Amino acid sequence: MKEAVKKIKFDIVTIFPKIFDSYFNESLFKRAKEKKILDIKVHDLRDYTEDKHKTVDDSPYGGGPGMVLKVEPIHKAVKKLKPNKKTRVILFSTRGKKLDSEMAKRLAKYDRLILICGRYEGVDERVAEYIADEEVSIGDYVLSGGEIPAMVLVEAVSRFVPGFLGKMESLEDIKGSYPSYTRPEVFETKAIGPGQLGHSQKKQKTKKWKVPSVLLSGNHVKIEEWRQNN
Ligand code: SAH
Repeated sequence: MKEAVKKIKFDIVTIFPKIFDSYFNESLFKRAKEKKILDIKVHDLRDYTEDKHKTVDDSPYGGGPGMVLKVEPIHKAVKKLKPNKKTRVILFSTRGKKLDSEMAKRLAKYDRLILICGRYEGVDERVAEYIADEEVSIGDYVLSGGEIPAMVLVEAVSRFVPGFLGKMESLEDIKGSYPSYTRPEVFETKAIGPGQLGHSQKKQKTKKWKVPSVLLSGNHVKIEEWRQNN
């Protein structure tokens, strides 16, 4: 009997839908979509406007520079997407809770995540107050929009969806991270450094960059121990 696959759907609401085209059509995402583990839909916020100019932004009350994304089109988009109890609506914000592994794991339990990407000076606060279930920041720095945060969140969450990663062992969040090496065992080079690849290269002594010998020992207990400690 075929085991039921857990599937998660991401609905991304943005004014720059094309940003997502290449990233989500490569590598693990491509495979996960083919295997029907993930369903990623990108929605153009302008499709949810009512006026002929497809206005998505306006100037802020109280004055100040920049524009603010309007509440109406976002409300219309989210309403059309019909969130239910197993849906989480997320607004990207510099004031949000910081994304970490624990949050990603928790979000992976939902059937569906609706991700709202801000732009310009941000998003009318009523989206945070009445539409979003939570506000998420990906770090203490300011980006120009929520699109890169959306890609970061989709990827961090997807790693916790069974089947997304080929081998679950590569789930570093559970096993911990360790340094890796691959062939050659010794890499001989005249090194890289200030001025070293230029005219003075001939005078340079060849350096040998070696792989730690324990990794070549075949002793799996020792290798495991080394990985724990590095
Ligand atoms: N005026 C805001 C910055 C707005 S940046 C401020 O000073 O805090 C425009 C949009 O980009 C935000 O609405 C948010 O959706 C997104 N964004 C920018 N940096 C982000 C970050 N670190 N994490 C999550 N979203 C971010």
